[in-house]
Amino acid sequence: MFSDPDTFPDMLAELRDHFDRGLTRSLQWRREQLSAISRMLEENEARVSDALAEDLGKPQQEVLLGETALIFSEVEHARKRLKRWTKARRVPTPMVGKPGRSWVQPEPFGVVLIIGAWNYPIQLLLSPLIPAIAAGNCAVLKPSEVAVATSKLLAELVPQYLDERAVRVVEGAVEETTELLKQRFDHIFYTGSSAVGKIVMRAAAEHLTPVTLELGGKSPCVIDAGADIESAARRLIWGKCLNAGQTCIAPDYVLVRPADRDRLIGAIEHELFEMYGADRLGSSDYCKIINRRHFDRLRPLIDSGRVVIGGRVDETRCRIEPTVLTEVAPDSALMQEEIFGPILPIMEVDDLEAAIAFIREREKPLSAYLFTRSGESERRFSEAVSTGNLCINDTLMFMSVPELPFGGVGNSGMGQYHGKAGFDRLSHLKAVMKRGLFPEIPVRFPPYSKLKMRLLKWVS
Ligand code: NAD
Repeated sequence: MFSDPDTFPDMLAELRDHFDRGLTRSLQWRREQLSAISRMLEENEARVSDALAEDLGKPQQEVLLGETALIFSEVEHARKRLKRWTKARRVPTPMVGKPGRSWVQPEPFGVVLIIGAWNYPIQLLLSPLIPAIAAGNCAVLKPSEVAVATSKLLAELVPQYLDERAVRVVEGAVEETTELLKQRFDHIFYTGSSAVGKIVMRAAAEHLTPVTLELGGKSPCVIDAGADIESAARRLIWGKCLNAGQTCIAPDYVLVRPADRDRLIGAIEHELFEMYGADRLGSSDYCKIINRRHFDRLRPLIDSGRVVIGGRVDETRCRIEPTVLTEVAPDSALMQEEIFGPILPIMEVDDLEAAIAFIREREKPLSAYLFTRSGESERRFSEAVSTGNLCINDTLMFMSVPELPFGGVGNSGMGQYHGKAGFDRLSHLKAVMKRGLFPEIPVRFPPYSKLKMRLLKWVS
């Protein structure tokens, strides 16, 4: 059942009251809450799997790979480093400020709103909660209503495991979220489409609330001349088919030289057979499309080019086979919007420079992938392509490195999280200076004189 918007002001007032009274300040409380997140997932492993199977047909391995393993590792990482992260960070004080000391003191913002998306409905809601709590904030969690079963489960479990005085779940769709966004938060952490990202940012502007926007976009995958095509096909198609392509960092399209195209298609076909067998539509290792609306959005996109692999759909079960297309026009519908499904256009480009030009003509992607054996290509691509994340010779795997900040750039988002980047993002980094009382150096005080001017020039 969706939450009643009339309750939002009181909920916010209660959270703020507990925050102001210092509930979330102690490191021990933060550690306990962080552990509770992992415990909640461990003790309810079967229910979590069932909800994700109901919403997305997620196989258990994908529940671990794409949802819970990242939470466990982020919790461990944050717990171990909490003391270090929360400490004052000394910075040098220049001569003009002597005697004195200066430091940066991370402090919590207050109450953080976290709005999650449906495609990884556990991970995308709980992984921002980890830095929110580590930084000492209260949080309101708004799971995506599109992942119906998971939203319901989270609304039931979170109050059982986390301190209700500091963490609440609000269930709802557009109407409820719109009302929620009218409240004053101290930070809004949004994951979802760029279109809604703009709505969120507009609402945040009303209260001058800072935002983190984790958005999407078309993530390109380039196969360089001389790349290991077989390895590229395996890693590329795995990244595309995980969660049936409903992954924000999934390779959206491939850029390959005409000379390598057919070999790549052959290798993808082989890998798909190895991974899912002959009946890919029926494979229990392959997810479904979240709902009928998204199925209906994706289905006509298959007609944007020549189907060289797959193309079959199962309307009643909302399934679409991994589908590879060639002869796709760059201005076709498929190449305008993020695909967010298991359809992979293969575009032909003459060389790496043409691939780079193709990418740079479009919005900055969330992720970019390059398969290459050449150090020179790697250097050139890395320098020329602005992207949230760059992965060389694999797809998605950078997500497993907690020290790597995650987030988009330009149209694919703003602000990064995971590990310390997340802690810093959800902290206010308060600048502090403490002056010594003695000796007082009077050069900055009037009455001014030539001597004071000379001294000022010397010390500043
Ligand atoms: P969605 O429909 O679940 O929407 C995301 C959230 O926004 C939901 O909680 C929803 O209730 C809320 N919402 C929707 N419309 C709203 C409105 N008009 N006003 C206020 N709130 C509203 O998810 P989606 O938008 O379909 O997500 C898919 C997009 O998200 C893709 O573009 C994908 O690339 C991107 N994404 C990005 C990341 C990332 O980490 N960068 C992760 C997952 C998905």
